[in-house]
Amino acid sequence: MYAWHVNHPGPLESSPLTFQSTPDPEPGLGEVLIAVSTCGVCRTDLHVSEGDLPVHRDGVTPGHEVVGTVSALGAGVTDLRVGDRVGLAWLHSTCGTCRYCRAGAENLCPASTYTGWDVNGGYAEYAIGQASFVYPLPDAYDDEHLAPLLCAGIIGYRALKRAGMHEDAHGWRLGLWGFGGSAHLAAQVAIAAGARVHVMTREPASRELALSLGAASAQDFTADPPEKLDGAVFFAPVGDHIPAVMRALDRGGVLATAGIYLTDIPTLHYEQDLFYEKEIRSVTSNTREDGREFLAFAQRHPLTVDTHPYPLDAAAQALADLKAGAFAGAAVLTV
Ligand SMILES: [Zn+2]
Ligand SMILES: [Zn+2]
Repeated sequence: MYAWHVNHPGPLESSPLTFQSTPDPEPGLGEVLIAVSTCGVCRTDLHVSEGDLPVHRDGVTPGHEVVGTVSALGAGVTDLRVGDRVGLAWLHSTCGTCRYCRAGAENLCPASTYTGWDVNGGYAEYAIGQASFVYPLPDAYDDEHLAPLLCAGIIGYRALKRAGMHEDAHGWRLGLWGFGGSAHLAAQVAIAAGARVHVMTREPASRELALSLGAASAQDFTADPPEKLDGAVFFAPVGDHIPAVMRALDRGGVLATAGIYLTDIPTLHYEQDLFYEKEIRSVTSNTREDGREFLAFAQRHPLTVDTHPYPLDAAAQALADLKAGAFAGAAVLTV
């Protein structure tokens, strides 16, 4: 098969990725082989390619928003069949026995492995998944529009929960900083749950998209939202702006930082930024339960998924366009 490999992590300008012929993977015990139909392009793939994240596997194939069909079963797999349409997401495996796994916080499992970082992902014709970690997919979407739900969507959903959103969010005031693949889905989830959503983003096209999806307001990234906030989700990798977000929170407000990577946060001023029980929380991966909840939500509330398709062999271009902020919404690779 053909697959992309991160052979020399570094700036995209130095061509860290190569598209090359590689042996077809074979599913082992408890695994399935998936014929990839579509793979979403996530900012984490950019961080893996550029070496912002430490190398976990030499020459790894990125991609963890994989939609495809099961094409072979490894030993011991009984609950999936060849031909099933499935999704493969960021969480590849957990140990299942540590204190976090047992407490329903498998996203914190120290032995967890990740698709497209520890094991090869979906920038390829085939990918391997653990049968117990692949998702059945809602039938309300085609493959292209499903792919971004599998990371951008699930992470956005977890970030909303971390920011304090409840199922009935009427009257809840939410701010979103950054408006890419994940935020444009999170905004719709929050709006569907009844929240009033304010979006802060640099790109005029993203502000237009936010308003068209039902945001109450959209302004520049550095502008303040028009009202104090109960919750905020920060999708940008720029820690410098965190103090300003903390100041935009109302008493008791909670900020969730959604990215896997964030530059240093400057000194916070206790009285202005944290007192009155304001909180800042990170978001680390997700549990399978988050994924199932979100996909069920997406089936009940059809989400508008703004996609930008690229052929598989143009993955490097898709990453470059993502880095340059060339589009609102989510890039996807079609195989
Ligand atoms: Zn564990
Ligand atoms: Zn991702």
